[in-house]
Order: sequence, then C-alpha cells, then structure tokens
Amino acid sequence: MFKKVLIANRGEIALRVIRACRELDIQTVAVYSDADRESLHVRFADDDVCIGPAPARESYLKIPRLIAAAEIAGADAIHPGYGFLAENAEFAETCAASNITFIGPTASQIRLMGDKAAARRTMADVGVPIIPGTPGPVEDVDEALGFAREIGFPVIIKAAAGGGGKGMRVANDPDDFARAFQLARSEALSAFGNGDVYVEKYLARPRHIEFQIMGDRHGNIIHLGERDCSVQRRHQKLIEEAPSPGMTPELRQRMGDDAVRGARAIDYVGAGTIEMLLDTDGSYYFMEMNTRIQVEHGVTEMLTGVDLVKEQIRVAAGERLSVTSMPLLRGHVIEVRVNAEDPARNFQPSPGRIEVFNPPGGPGVRVDTHIYTGYTVPPYYDSLLAKLICQGSTRAEAIKRMQIALDFFIVEGVATTIPFLGRVMQNPRFQAGQVDTKFLERESDLLREP
Ligand code: ADP
Repeated sequence: MFKKVLIANRGEIALRVIRACRELDIQTVAVYSDADRESLHVRFADDDVCIGPAPARESYLKIPRLIAAAEIAGADAIHPGYGFLAENAEFAETCAASNITFIGPTASQIRLMGDKAAARRTMADVGVPIIPGTPGPVEDVDEALGFAREIGFPVIIKAAAGGGGKGMRVANDPDDFARAFQLARSEALSAFGNGDVYVEKYLARPRHIEFQIMGDRHGNIIHLGERDCSVQRRHQKLIEEAPSPGMTPELRQRMGDDAVRGARAIDYVGAGTIEMLLDTDGSYYFMEMNTRIQVEHGVTEMLTGVDLVKEQIRVAAGERLSVTSMPLLRGHVIEVRVNAEDPARNFQPSPGRIEVFNPPGGPGVRVDTHIYTGYTVPPYYDSLLAKLICQGSTRAEAIKRMQIALDFFIVEGVATTIPFLGRVMQNPRFQAGQVDTKFLERESDLLREP
C-alpha cells in the first residue's frame, strides 16, 4: 500500500480523499494556491506544499509543480480528485515517468475516452448503442450539415474534447446550423485548445443516466448501479439521485451490462462513469465516459455502502476490488449541489465571506464540504460549497429528509442555491419523478423566489 498520497486538488474533494487515506493509514500531502492558504484540506493533511498563485493555470494545473511537490514531500502516489488534471493524460504519464502512481486509469484510457468521437467509435465497436451521429469529427460545415439532414433536426454539435457543458451547441433547423457549428468550434478551440467537433441527434426529453464503474488490474470490472442526473441547468448537473425513478431491474440489467461491456473494451482500471441518455421510448445511448471519480460519487456510496475512494486507492495499489458484484441497494439517495450562485441571476457566481455556517445532520444525512464560518469563497474556482446527500428507505422519505436538511442548512454571506433546491424538492413533478434534462426549462418558476 502507498505510504503517502498527494492530493492534486482543493475543496471538498481534497477533504474526501484525505479521509479515505486516513482510514487506510496513509499519510497525505495537500497542495494549495495562494488563495487557499486558509483551507481545511491544508489543515487536515499531514503535509502541505504551496504550488503557486491563485489562478488554477498557475497552480492546480501546473504539472511540474505538482510532481515537484510530490517529490519534495515524499509522496508515492497522487490522487487527482475531479476537475483540474483528473482527466489529463499527460499528467498521468508524467506521474508514471516520475515513479509516482497516478490513482486512476492509464494515460491511454484517459486519452481514448477524453476524445468523445473516439469513445463513441470504441463503444459502437462492442455493440453499445451510441446516439446517431457523425462517425468522427467533421471539419467542413457543408459536410456537417449534410450529416445533420440525414440524422434529422434538431442536432447537437459537440466538442470532441468537451466537458463541463462547454463547446456544445444545439441547432434546431438547417438555417441555424452554420452559426451553431462555428460557435461550437470556436468555443471548443478556446476552452480545450482543440476545435474538433462532431454532430449528434438532439433528443427532446432524455434522462441523463450514468453507471458507476469500478475495475481492478486483475480483470474484474463491475458496475454499482445507476445515478439519474437529469436536473440540470445549461447541461450541468444540479441534483443527482439513485435509483433512477422509473428504472426497472430489467432495464438496469441491460444498461448496466452495456456499461460494463464498454468499460471492458478498454480494460478499464479504477473508478469511472459511463454516461448515457435514456429516451422517452426506452431506448438508451452511450454519451461519454468520465475516467475519474465524480462529484456525485457519494450517492452510490450511500446507496451501496461501498467506499469508492478507498476502492480507487486500493485498486491503484494493485489490490483486487473488495466487491465483485452489485451490493443490495439501500433505499433511495438524493444529492443536491449547494453552490455559491444566484439562480435568479442565471446562476451567477457569488464569492465572498461566509458569515454563518450551520450544516444539517440527522439520520441518513451526509454533508461533504470544505467551508466554515469565516471562510472566504475565492472567485477563482468552481462555486461548489457543499454536497448534501440524503438517504431514505423510499424516494419520498429521501425527499422529505432533503427538504428538512435544506431548511436547517444555514449559509449566510453569499448567495446560494439552497432556497432554489428546497423549491425543487416541493415541486409536484419532481416528487412524481417526472424529470428529464428539460425539467428546469419547463419549471423555470423554480428559479425565482416566490
Ligand atoms: P459534458 O461532457 O460537457 O458534460 P455531456 O456529453 O456529458 O457533456 O452532456 C451533458 C448534457 O448535455 C447531458 O446530460 C444532456 O443534458 C445534454 N446532452 C448531451 N448530448 C445530448 C443529446 N444528443 N441530446 C440531448 N441532450 C444532450
């Protein structure tokens, strides 16, 4: 097992990884930018190294500094968390070249799945259904328009290197197409340094359903059930739950088998997620694979009792998965993302000082957070303040617990999504499980204080 793990991240996920390491009796090294000096992950790690100024490009994204920090602190492994360098193949390669274990899949697995067009081909080759679309990236707008006409409008133009909802544009008709195509290309180029885009059919009211995958180096690959992440704004997740409302054991079996087959096609090692869209007619399609731990992993942890982060670390150290099949599911779990954002102002970030902080508690309630009274939310990073996860024996009980937990969750000093999330819990369509990725567009009243 590792002696010392460096966590190449910040915020709640850095704390999450520190906890897992402590349970495994592994020492930890925190890294931090100038803006994060007062952060809890720095306080709770055994060691810490400052890696540069506040902007992520000059600190959390600087590979040489992270490697140097690991070498100085004597870390034999690096956990990348999510975001930042978690899906950066070069980082995984550099770790390996420096004799430091990257806690995650191999560089080539990251590279292959990071190219969404290549990932689609890989999945199609093993018979996993993919959304109808172009076989690979398309460069020429006329050629792309030809494909779009064949597939049928509306279509979505997506960055091959995409992530975080960036570099995606919907075109509703041929007149719309050229503009959307150029916008997607230029956004892809500026966000990812790669202007490759491909075209896919745009589904009208899909559910976002993803399968949690775990693989080890001994050939074991399993899934740990699905998460439904259909409540989104601008194609980004706000609420995640499991099981998916409306999921049947038979559909889970089929989707889960396909997800495992897809992961097996690349001999996947570590924690990963196969994201799919489930259409209203019951057909489903592979969308992309995330080759890292996800923000919403705690949903699966609460539902299955499996500690995914400990599992990641063990697998990276060469151990076998401690679970070999999907455990019994324990009721229903819902997660909400508490962000320092104002929903009424198009989710505009709201950094600043936290004047009062009182997290909820009680049975079936888990809060993963890095904030405290007096903490200043810096403007440089994403605005996630806390993940609130509630479990109940039924979905209705989980919703009720979430409502109460949100009522008892006090964060003063910055605008947060807490009141908005409380309104969603009381929405009759949400309560009835009638949720798809267009839910918030239809229920836009939820965005405003009544
Ligand atoms: P990213 O990697 O940027 O998060 P994804 O490919 O995971 O992008 O898609 C994010 C979200 O965008 C999905 O959950 C869904 O809401 C929407 N989306 C993506 N592709 C389609 C599609 N073909 N049809 C309908 N919605 C889509």
